[in-house]
Amino acid sequence: MYNIIGYYEAETVGEATALLAENPNLRIIAGGTDILIKMHGGQIEDAELLSLRKIKSLERIRKAEDGRIIIGAMATFTQVFNDPILREMIPILTEAAISMGGPQIRNIATIGGNVCNGATSADSASSLFALNAQLKLENMNGERIVPIREFYLGPGKVALKPGEILTEILISQEDYEGFGGQYIKFAMREAMDIATLAVAVVCKLQGKTFDEVRIGLGVAGPTPLRCLAAEAYALGKEVSAETVAEIGKLAVNSAKARTSWRASKEYREHLVEELVQRALKIAVVNAGGVELV
Ligand SMILES: Cc1cc2nc3c(=O)[nH]c(=O)nc-3n(C[C@H](O)[C@H](O)[C@H](O)COP(=O)(O)OP(=O)(O)OC[C@H]3O[C@@H](n4cnc5c(N)ncnc54)[C@H](O)[C@@H]3O)c2cc1C
Repeated sequence: MYNIIGYYEAETVGEATALLAENPNLRIIAGGTDILIKMHGGQIEDAELLSLRKIKSLERIRKAEDGRIIIGAMATFTQVFNDPILREMIPILTEAAISMGGPQIRNIATIGGNVCNGATSADSASSLFALNAQLKLENMNGERIVPIREFYLGPGKVALKPGEILTEILISQEDYEGFGGQYIKFAMREAMDIATLAVAVVCKLQGKTFDEVRIGLGVAGPTPLRCLAAEAYALGKEVSAETVAEIGKLAVNSAKARTSWRASKEYREHLVEELVQRALKIAVVNAGGVELV
């Protein structure tokens, strides 16, 4: 049952933030693929909804003059998957996009909704963590930029303040240029399933050593997370199967896996160690390095 007691549509960000400031009870609806499920399941009752669907400026994906990639919060997963800039510059995000839901869901679900939903299983999250994405949040009084690692506060909890809208996802040039990457979603079945574990890895090489490695994990804890100890270990190390094996082991220390009906804690930890290695080996090749056996 959908008990919608009010429905508003904004055509600009200014209009949306003004409506939110006037009425703090308004809940934002983007594609509706999460919020409507929650309403149907009774988790949200008597909702007053503010739709962002008519704000066309929020659908844009572009590369700014300073090299930043800017993804509008209302870009759908189909758009993200098909976008030529993202395919060329940050394919770990387009790989994540195509692994998400089925075609009908991807046509309507937005990347902004995926992030604001606060789910550790969100398919865009581990890639955005690995890419050091920053989030532009706007309200009536202005805007602020928040690193994605500070945005996730707990399961279903994000750092949006009352009256704020996520408008853009920003990825700096130094965070993607020269990097190779790989996204791996491990799920119980190949199509239309939520991740049991998700791994996104990017790396940059300097000759035969690792210049930088960043590892984002989904469903390895209550929120998406980074494997900072494994990343620090990688710096300056020789690009070899032994180094990659150690990085996989260290990644497990950052995980805060738990047992759920999908998988036990131990199985998830095993997946972290194994999938980080697999993803990093592919990322090395994508960064111009040799295949590691
Ligand atoms: C059948 C099915 C399969 C699915 N499969 C997957 C999957 O494989 N992987 C996956 O990650 N997810 C999956 N999902 C979950 C869902 O589709 C995604 O999380 C989707 O990206 C949510 O986006 P949306 O635009 O529909 O968000 P909505 O439902 O409109 O909103 C979600 C939440 O974010 C808030 N919000 C949305 N946009 C903004 C904004 N710009 N600023 C502030 N707050 C905002 C809303 O208020 C709400 O709380 C699936 C859902 C269904 C129904």
